[in-house]
Amino acid sequence: MKLLIGLQAYDIRIKEKLAKKERGPAAVQKREEDLAAAQALLQEEIDKLNSHDNLRRETEREIQDLDERLKKAEVKLSSIASNKEYTAALKEIEGIKLEKEALETAVIEQMEQKDELVSACDDNRKKSETMKKQFDQDRKQILRDMKILDKDLKKLEKERKLCCKATEGSLLKKYDVLRGHKNGVAITPVVKGVCQICRMAIPPQKFNELIRGDKLMTCPSCARIMYWGEDERYQQP
Ligand SMILES: [Zn+2]
Repeated sequence: MKLLIGLQAYDIRIKEKLAKKERGPAAVQKREEDLAAAQALLQEEIDKLNSHDNLRRETEREIQDLDERLKKAEVKLSSIASNKEYTAALKEIEGIKLEKEALETAVIEQMEQKDELVSACDDNRKKSETMKKQFDQDRKQILRDMKILDKDLKKLEKERKLCCKATEGSLLKKYDVLRGHKNGVAITPVVKGVCQICRMAIPPQKFNELIRGDKLMTCPSCARIMYWGEDERYQQP
C-alpha cells in the first residue's frame, strides 16, 4: 500500500508538471498575439501620419497653383483698358486670394493635427518597444521553466519506474487500469469513514475491515483502491 501511495504521489506530480509544460507554448502564443496587436496599432498610426503628410503636401501644391494664377491675373490687370474688364479681373484676383487664405488656414490646422499624430505615434512606438522587450524576457523565462520541468519530469519518471519495479505485478496492473479510468487518481485515503476523493461514507463494517488492513479493498462508491488515511504507517511519504 505504501508503494501505491508513493506511486500515486509521483503520478500526481508528473501530471501537474505535464499540465504546466503544456501551458508554456500557449502563454508564449498569447504574448505573441498581444505584441502583434500593438505593432499593428503602431502601423496604423504611422499610416495615418503618412497620409496626413500627403494631404498637407497636396494643399501646399494647391496654394502654389493659386499663386501662379494670381501672378497671371495681376499681369493681365495691368494690360486691361476697359473698366468692365478691370472690375472683373479685380474680382477674380479677390476670389483667388480668398481661396488661398482658406487653404493656408487649412495647412495651419493640418500642422497642428500633425503634432498630435506624431505624439500618438511616439507613444505607441514606445509601448510597442516595451512590450517587445517584455515579450523577449517572458519567452526566455518560459523556455527556461520548460527546460526545468523537463528535467523534473525525467527525474520523477525515473523514480516512478523504481517504485513500479518494487510493486507487485498484479497490483500495479490494477492500479494502472484504475488510474486510466479514474482521471489519474487510482487510490484514495479514507478518513473518519469517508472516502477523501468521492466524499462518500464507507459502511462501518467495511471501514473496520479497512483499519485491520489485511486485504485490498476498493471504495464501494468510486471503486478506487482504499487505504486508511489515519494509519501512521501512511503518514510519511
Ligand atoms: Zn470513493
